[in-house]
Amino acid sequence: MRLPNANCPRCGGAMSCHSVSYFNTQDVCCDCKTEERQFPNYQKALDAETAQVQAGNLAYQGIGLAEEDRVMMRQLIAVRKGSDDAQAHRR
Ligand SMILES: [Zn+2]
Repeated sequence: MRLPNANCPRCGGAMSCHSVSYFNTQDVCCDCKTEERQFPNYQKALDAETAQVQAGNLAYQGIGLAEEDRVMMRQLIAVRKGSDDAQAHRR
């Protein structure tokens, strides 16, 4: 059994509330988990997860995060943290 991280591997936030990602086996905070719903491949990840679980494959690793999912993840985290970075880099 794996112990949860002290901090979220994605945003570095507190893990007082955490859950496993639909995209991979990362244990992430609930904010990051909620934000996954806005990732471009969320529905694909959900469908793949559901299909694998129904097939009895409980060790499924997830579809992984595509580049466009990572881009969206970074943007959402930046907005949530109120960082000026997202604005500074806006073209
Ligand atoms: Zn997080």
